[in-house]
Amino acid sequence: MTDSAPPNQLRDPDIFWLHRWLALKKTIQATRKSKDTKEPFKGLLCNLLAFGQKQFLYFFLGFTHSLGHYKENKDFEQAKKDGGFGAASPKLIKDYDYPPEYVLRTILDQIAVDFEIIQRAMHQRQHGTEFQQETLNLADKWGQELLGRVKKMIEFSHGDEKVSLHPKVITYFNRSPLIRMIPYDNVALIGIPLTATRPDHRRDLLVIGHELGHYAYWHGQVNGQSIREILRYIVRGEMPYIKNWIEEIFSDVFGFVVSKQLAMSLWALEMIADNLPSEYVHDNRVHPIDLLRPYLFLLTLSTLELSPHTRDSRAGNVAAIVKDRGGHEYFRTIDWERKEIKVKLGTAKNTLQTVIVKILDNILPKLKTEENWDVGSPVGWWNANQSLPAENKKKWEEEKERRYKNFEKTIDPPKNPDSNIQPEKSEQKKGEQPAKTHAFVTVREANFERYLEPELWKIVFAADGWAVKGPETQPVGGWEGDSSGGYNPFHL
Ligand SMILES: [Zn+2]
Repeated sequence: MTDSAPPNQLRDPDIFWLHRWLALKKTIQATRKSKDTKEPFKGLLCNLLAFGQKQFLYFFLGFTHSLGHYKENKDFEQAKKDGGFGAASPKLIKDYDYPPEYVLRTILDQIAVDFEIIQRAMHQRQHGTEFQQETLNLADKWGQELLGRVKKMIEFSHGDEKVSLHPKVITYFNRSPLIRMIPYDNVALIGIPLTATRPDHRRDLLVIGHELGHYAYWHGQVNGQSIREILRYIVRGEMPYIKNWIEEIFSDVFGFVVSKQLAMSLWALEMIADNLPSEYVHDNRVHPIDLLRPYLFLLTLSTLELSPHTRDSRAGNVAAIVKDRGGHEYFRTIDWERKEIKVKLGTAKNTLQTVIVKILDNILPKLKTEENWDVGSPVGWWNANQSLPAENKKKWEEEKERRYKNFEKTIDPPKNPDSNIQPEKSEQKKGEQPAKTHAFVTVREANFERYLEPELWKIVFAADGWAVKGPETQPVGGWEGDSSGGYNPFHL
């Protein structure tokens, strides 16, 4: 922090930004007050309003350096009161890479997206078809069960100290599967595909395990240390591409070992099969390249020594898929100097193996067991392509079917007597330990005597992944042009 703001050509934000926030606030308030809005959505909207207001005003007031300008402005005076920062206002040094308007627009976008998702989740439960309601109910339950399995291993905490520690899963239908990271409530908002609504075809719900991996990445702690910190330590000496992929690597491993569903490995194959071949070796700096994604599951299986798959998966011939998809042997990415380099698939595979072993040892050691896995039969599952002899191909198809069916039976047992479309209540139980306050809240509540440097206010801006994860799967924060060698600065 510094006493006076350094000379900076960036102007103060226009008052219209405040008016935009006030419009959004009014809409959310009206929905919250509506008689159709029930729990847990009422509570969610309430927390969104409180968090959104604090977050927006922190930056709007913090970037407004010429206070005299708004002396007579009623909205501005009210904003100072609403911000609840006391007599002093936050003071933030402007940053050319993340100008005030960019920060304010991102915050308003994120509030609007959260509101829209909450509203959608609510409407789909109230007015969706019978199949939709049933599917959301199953998806919520499956997600809740997965979180229950790691209850004793991972502690979840949130930015807002008022929320309880036990996260709740609320699913909604979305164009593509994704999770919304919200720092103001202990809720995992997971978008699931509409194609999961057929009673005997639930395989699209396999994605929930992976999405909860993202939740654990941003909110989970193991022995008092955040999972993000542990992962950052694990990849400290690795190339930028591994650092960029670590959240997705962890989410895949987490989803797989917590779900204990062999069908997830098939899901990985299908996930890449419907992508454009030109994308197979393209490094988007978020996900491992397509060709490596199935290896992730294969390597996790071999690390678990899950017999009888260990030998099978180690001997598995991924080369067959690689051949099918253009015979790539390497992919292009960038090194620490942002110079383009070629990395051999084999090299990346070895690194992935090391990282997976460390993830399992340091974060999920209790799940390194054969218990409760549906091991099925090893049928050379990585050879599932046209080159298989006919009889093996038939065996493979049967095993594939069996694995998906096993998953479907697990999440949708026939004649489930507890079927209930209402999600569980989310009130905080008495005596529950309050969550630990996250770093971004601590920074935001710091004293405002001096101007705060961008490195610090960026922690508040990122808000445990809220500003980073964009409205769809693309992050809002950019990597390109960043001097840290392509490493996403917001992967804190
Ligand atoms: Zn993901």
